[in-house]
Amino acid sequence: MSALLEKARQILTEGDLCDHCLGRAFSHLGSGLRNAQRGKALRIVLNMEGSLFPENEQNCRICRGIFSQVPQWAERAVAAVEGIEFRTYLMGTRVPPSIESAELALKAHHELRGEPFKQEFNREVGRLFGALLAERRHPVAVDFLDPEIVLLMDLEKSELYLQITPLFIYGRYKKFVRTIPQTRWPCRECRGRGCARCHFTGKMYQESVEELISPPLLRATRGTGTAFHGAGREDIDALMLGTGRPFVIEIKEPKVRTLDLIKLQEEINASAAGKVEVSELRFVKGSVVERLKSIEAEKVYEARVRFAEPIRPEQLQEALERLRGATIEQRTPTRVVHRRADLVRTRRVLEISGELLSPTEALIRVHCEGGLYIKELVSGDGGRTRPSVSELLRIPSEVMELNVLEVLGDFLGSES
Ligand SMILES: [Zn+2]
Ligand SMILES: [Zn+2]
Repeated sequence: MSALLEKARQILTEGDLCDHCLGRAFSHLGSGLRNAQRGKALRIVLNMEGSLFPENEQNCRICRGIFSQVPQWAERAVAAVEGIEFRTYLMGTRVPPSIESAELALKAHHELRGEPFKQEFNREVGRLFGALLAERRHPVAVDFLDPEIVLLMDLEKSELYLQITPLFIYGRYKKFVRTIPQTRWPCRECRGRGCARCHFTGKMYQESVEELISPPLLRATRGTGTAFHGAGREDIDALMLGTGRPFVIEIKEPKVRTLDLIKLQEEINASAAGKVEVSELRFVKGSVVERLKSIEAEKVYEARVRFAEPIRPEQLQEALERLRGATIEQRTPTRVVHRRADLVRTRRVLEISGELLSPTEALIRVHCEGGLYIKELVSGDGGRTRPSVSELLRIPSEVMELNVLEVLGDFLGSES
């Protein structure tokens, strides 16, 4: 008798196993076979050699015959994904501790190298799930890395959980009004519950860039919500112009994933007309969000500045000359220090130019490293930002209007 058969005989002599669990103990032997076939083959040969071990699934000391439930799990999975568009999936099993420990004990005792129970159970349910969907003309494939849905079977609780992977859509937005924040801003008074101050909306501002962009996307995907990830954010009162600011909008639990992004872009731009405009919409991987958050992008700003006293054009040019290429030491601005750490950062002004609109007003254009606060670069923030326009002119200066013209950087990387 071969060593393999002898081992199988020993295992079965110690206690019953179903064909799945017997075959799985030797899953590394014989390619192209299913574990149940391996188990059945061993059982047949043992029978022919005189040892009779009839299969009784319910007596399997590892799984107690749980593989007989595969068809029910597959049907439950099919019912759970009804009406949901996806092409790739992943099956997961939460294995009861009793199965896990029985399997570990058997493997340790007989020095077996077979695959874990979980892997076979996922595969068996997945195979049938795929076949049932194929019959319904819905072809799907397993994807271990980036599945569009995950089905998790909790065998002990007999619960099936469906997770739908979010959709990530990249784009750039422009903002043409000075009254809306980038994302929904919960009311300071009631923290979003609704109160008299916020007219029971729970919000500080009635609209946001996110709220202007998301409704058409939510309708088209039948998602349950969005998360908005911007490559930084401008002040509420600053416009976002030029080519716009990169963002990724994450759509949670989308039921539809095939979208006409050109049409959706038009729809968003029509409904948000005059306030927000998006461009370059495209699908990206979720990893772009981290990239977007990690890049401290260089920016180009345009600021309308007012001086407390009239100045001459040469004075302005002289001040700008001293700021061009300068390293600015900027202590966290007074206006944001309540929510940001109070520290001194250094950022460079890469390019700066400007001209007087009147003796007390100028238009200044600044290209700087990410993280430099422009309002304070002008005002000096009571000496917290040095040097500043105010300091160099020795005249209090203030930004009246700020526009972001460019947010520079490679935000898509190899994802594009
Ligand atoms: Zn079993
Ligand atoms: Zn409120």
